[in-house]
Amino acid sequence: MKDLRLYNTLNRRIEDFTSIVPQKVGMYICGPTVYGPPHLGHVRGPIVFDVFRRLLMQQGYQVRFVRNITDVGHLVGDADEGEDKLQKQARLEQIEPMEVAQTYTDAYNWAMDALNVLRPSIEPKASGHIIEQIEMIQSIIDANLAYQVNGSVYFDVEAYQKEHHYGTLSGRVLDDLIAGSASRELEGQSEKRSAHDFALWKHALPEHIMQWSSPWGKGFPGWHIECSAMSAKYLGLEFDIHGGGMDLLFPHHECEIAQSTAAHKHNPARYWMHHNMITINGQKMAKSLNNGIQVSALFNGDHHLLSRGFGPNTLRFFVLQAHYRSTLDFSEVALEGSEKGLKRLLESFKKLESIVPEKESNVDIEAVEKAIDAALSDDLNTPIAIAQFFELAKFINLAIDKKAALNVQDLEKISNLITVYFQGILGLQTEVEAHSDILDEVMDILITLRSEAKTDKNYALSDAIRNRLKEKGVELMDSKEGTTWKHN
Ligand SMILES: [Zn+2]
Repeated sequence: MKDLRLYNTLNRRIEDFTSIVPQKVGMYICGPTVYGPPHLGHVRGPIVFDVFRRLLMQQGYQVRFVRNITDVGHLVGDADEGEDKLQKQARLEQIEPMEVAQTYTDAYNWAMDALNVLRPSIEPKASGHIIEQIEMIQSIIDANLAYQVNGSVYFDVEAYQKEHHYGTLSGRVLDDLIAGSASRELEGQSEKRSAHDFALWKHALPEHIMQWSSPWGKGFPGWHIECSAMSAKYLGLEFDIHGGGMDLLFPHHECEIAQSTAAHKHNPARYWMHHNMITINGQKMAKSLNNGIQVSALFNGDHHLLSRGFGPNTLRFFVLQAHYRSTLDFSEVALEGSEKGLKRLLESFKKLESIVPEKESNVDIEAVEKAIDAALSDDLNTPIAIAQFFELAKFINLAIDKKAALNVQDLEKISNLITVYFQGILGLQTEVEAHSDILDEVMDILITLRSEAKTDKNYALSDAIRNRLKEKGVELMDSKEGTTWKHN
């Protein structure tokens, strides 16, 4: 295996990766705020970091992979104002905030399982780590880098700036931030000393459901402090890799660095990895544009931008066909392209066993292996690795047509590359997925056959079709308009 190199946002360059403890890696990835169903915006990060984790494991590292669940403290405004996202959803659905959290944590994990993303080693919840967050806030107060006001605690960015550098990750300059925030300050954020100070703890009004006792009165933690407190608890004060989307780079990750530096005298992570965003038909995903697509809709096609569903393996392949630091534009046409390409690969893999080995190979499989390995080790270049699998597919097809020769060792090598890299590291399945329109067509055939059997008074057959489908969880429903079906 080649030595691993990755782009470190902290230093804005590609660096050699070395772990703090030999053969062990601690990774922290910012997880979802669980107040709604998982959507397209949720899929890229988990898939990218899953491949990275699998690559590390393949290279012999023991990986502790921590991905949190944000179930408190993330406010509607994404900053220090507005209602808690979960509490708002709980009010809308008329259920408990923790029911909201459980419902959408389950939904998120369902989507991750479908996408073949390995479950985290630890999946800590913000609400389960209030004590750790309070302790960390206290350390920041003790360092004179936070202040209390009206039962809330804010991080004092200007005091921090005297000895440290706020903006080390994002490259933002505090003076510019101050200038940029002047107008917001006028909008009633006067409780803070400066508009760019951020909440570590927020005072809760009596009607706020999720609140806890603290040295500063009843309240709830700010959004940024949870990741700092939980990563320190499970990975130590300094760990190897912190990852997340580019949208979290500022302020979330910048604030994490400031908090950890204030409390623990350490930037928490040596390498900061950020994946780029997914756009939809060239546009940003936004509620106002009504272009968000739930993961379930991606699978079943129930969305105005889709004419049918696509399988999770196709979606995973689509994500990995782009480098994680490039933007990825989603469209039905692009997904169809991925589906076709993937099918072409998988069909060629299937032919591998029917190739009769020749004495000598006349193609260079080792070069392909080296290229795949080099691509993945070079800042996780999955598109180049995938391109090499198309090269393999070409060799297989040529060998089938007797236009290329492969010996036993090379056939084994190809098979091994598929198992170790394609399935093991890229996490792709080798079975071609039936997509929902094929299922629709098959069901139409069965429904027609049953109706013909009924017309012929062959009730034994028509009942058998209904009953045997029922055994598979498919229910037929007859009405005046004809027969429809549903899968339970
Ligand atoms: Zn986070």
